[in-house]
Amino acid sequence: MPQPRFARFAIALPLYRVFEYKLADGDAAPPGTRYRLPFGNRRCTGVLLERDCASEFDPDRIKPVEQRLDDEAVVDPHMLELARWMAEYYLQPLGEVLFQCLPGYLRAAKPQVSTRVKRWKLAPIETGELETRLRRSPRQLEIVRALVAQPRGLTALDLKAINPGWHAPVAGLEQKNIVRAEWAEPEAAPLPAPQMPELSDEQRRILSAIEPRLETFGVHLLDGITGSGKTEIYLRLIRDRLDAGSQVIYLVPEIGLTNQLIQRIGERFGEAYAISHSGLSDLQRYRAWESFRRGEVGIMLGTRSSLFAQSPRLGLIVIDEEHDHSYRQEDGVRYHARDVAIKRAQMLGIPVLLGSATPSLESLNNLERDHYHRYRLDSRPTAFPPPRLELADISQSRLEFGCAAATLERIEKHLERRGQVLIYLNRRGFAPIVMCHECGWQAQCQNCDARLTLHQSVSSLICHHCGHSRGLPEACPECGHGEIKHYGIGTEQLEQGLAQRFAGVPVLRIDRDVIGSREALKQRLQTLADGEPCILVGTQMIAKGHDYPDISLAVVLDADQALFSASYRASERLAQTLYQVAGRSGRGDRAGEALVQTRFAQHPLMQSIRRSSYRDIAAGLLQERRSYGFPPFARAVMFRADAVELENAMQTLERIKAELGAARAYSKLSCIGPLPALMTRRIGRYRAQLCLLAGDHRILRSVLNDAMPAIEDIPGSKNVSWTVDVDAYDV
Ligand code: ADP
Ligand code: ZN
Ligand code: ZN
Repeated sequence: MPQPRFARFAIALPLYRVFEYKLADGDAAPPGTRYRLPFGNRRCTGVLLERDCASEFDPDRIKPVEQRLDDEAVVDPHMLELARWMAEYYLQPLGEVLFQCLPGYLRAAKPQVSTRVKRWKLAPIETGELETRLRRSPRQLEIVRALVAQPRGLTALDLKAINPGWHAPVAGLEQKNIVRAEWAEPEAAPLPAPQMPELSDEQRRILSAIEPRLETFGVHLLDGITGSGKTEIYLRLIRDRLDAGSQVIYLVPEIGLTNQLIQRIGERFGEAYAISHSGLSDLQRYRAWESFRRGEVGIMLGTRSSLFAQSPRLGLIVIDEEHDHSYRQEDGVRYHARDVAIKRAQMLGIPVLLGSATPSLESLNNLERDHYHRYRLDSRPTAFPPPRLELADISQSRLEFGCAAATLERIEKHLERRGQVLIYLNRRGFAPIVMCHECGWQAQCQNCDARLTLHQSVSSLICHHCGHSRGLPEACPECGHGEIKHYGIGTEQLEQGLAQRFAGVPVLRIDRDVIGSREALKQRLQTLADGEPCILVGTQMIAKGHDYPDISLAVVLDADQALFSASYRASERLAQTLYQVAGRSGRGDRAGEALVQTRFAQHPLMQSIRRSSYRDIAAGLLQERRSYGFPPFARAVMFRADAVELENAMQTLERIKAELGAARAYSKLSCIGPLPALMTRRIGRYRAQLCLLAGDHRILRSVLNDAMPAIEDIPGSKNVSWTVDVDAYDV
């Protein structure tokens, strides 16, 4: 008797196993198609991996699928292969990886909207009188206006974005013969013939070096100082690829301040690009993903997860600010977008273009080992080079809202000369410490081992780790003393202080607390673009990527914390931040200055920042990492557990350690822990960690290959859960 055949699925749950179901008779769907599946007494979404498998299980107990969700596969064979590689390399469950590679919209069991492209267009009629004719049908009028603006027509997804209940008004318009639907082949948006700046000699030389290498796999690192014209090179190479008929993925760390970039891309590429980032709705992101997949747009511009945009003819991946920490996903499926991009490009035989003024030590190490091609840009096409970093020694100074008197004078001088000033302070809120002078009570989060930050604008104490928020106490909750004090400075207090001190000068704060409002952000960016004197205050967000020509002074207020951090990456990150912040200054037709306030001006890192370039500092840091045997000269894998009781988290890690200890090569690597995490309690759970380090990644792989099958079976529960983090960013 022939063995019955089954299909294997990866499901959208954090489980390492794959599951078997029966397909309906005659269902010939290819791998990569989504199904709704019965799972225990629930339902879940799964992706078909393989058909016609023999099963080890009792055939009568294998359930049939409940419903097929897609007409055609939503995961193409290449993405399936990439996801399998990620699951194996990062030791993550395949189902989780696959759904992480899909837009969130497809993670839910919603049927795919439509794969054939139906477009609604205006019928060839006089549109002038429509405004009056449709006066009483505002919903129809709204759609007509959108169609007037888009002669190529709108898809169901476009219409849904305009009005979720679009069916009725569109049907009404069809009845009136104003609108009609056409089935069409996807059509690529046309490319304009834009004005482009004359390239500098440096830029031209680099382009002609890269161009012959565009048809094969290779990693190209543009190592160019801030403002040296890296973006211009990306744009030229992107155009080259589009003209050759391929598509391009263009990753940036953050979209918040990239209005300028989007504008520049619009000028160059018309409508031939889609944008995807976390500020958009699931539907908007899905539309971007669909239009790229269909080839209607040639460019996918976005943050980390845009890397997983599917394309029938991907020709280039660009990663701007490749050193940026945001390319690393730190929850759910842990991966590094730069590293996965390189793998993806290798599978496809296409190039990756990395760019940074402050390349990561990983990339610099790869350069040394001749894995990457390097191209240097040492000058700016504009009038002035990036400013040198000056140290302002504040060890003897009294500070006013975080600024020394000399710093305030410097700010004043630049404002008087009609320059703009950028002040970087990586701390949101009004003040980070709230305490009672009488008894020493401090405002602590009830869920985390962390202080609550005072946010005066909303009269609250807020935890920056779990979001817990409470009102300001009238008196000390411990001793009843009436006077509660706050210490330290956040951006809110800095903004207030500066506004009082420099009355009449706009003070623009940009951090996560204000960025929620797109309108407020747009206004602030407009003020900067207008070029009037103003002060820009903000956190990390204002440190990167933007190009405002009137900023002539950049100030870093509090860099000292990083000097004494427990993280081995702290020096690298500090150096990157300082050079990036300085690089925002002096981009136009006035020379820039950059100032770093510090209490530790004699600290070796501060001294070398004053004297050397980023390249020299990075070379020194790389040497240090080599001698300590830290990444990139070792590979790190971190197991983490969190539990309602610390005891349980530690026990789970002990169990994992025991499994690892049974592996053949275990004695050749170092295993540290399990230990309670630095911030042991977070969001109400206790956390512990276990770290594996090995100089040779093959040893690490061998241990994990031996031990993971047993570790994967260690169940998670509500009381304890564990994760594994390969190439952990911090150890
Ligand atoms: P980066 O990406 O290295 O920071 P950009 O490409 O944004 O540098 O260039 C910085 C500024 O110089 C931008 O305003 C850009 O328009 C301008 N720029 C770039 N290349 C040229 C060029 N060849 N000629 C004139 N201006 C240029
Ligand atoms: Zn008290
Ligand atoms: Zn908290």
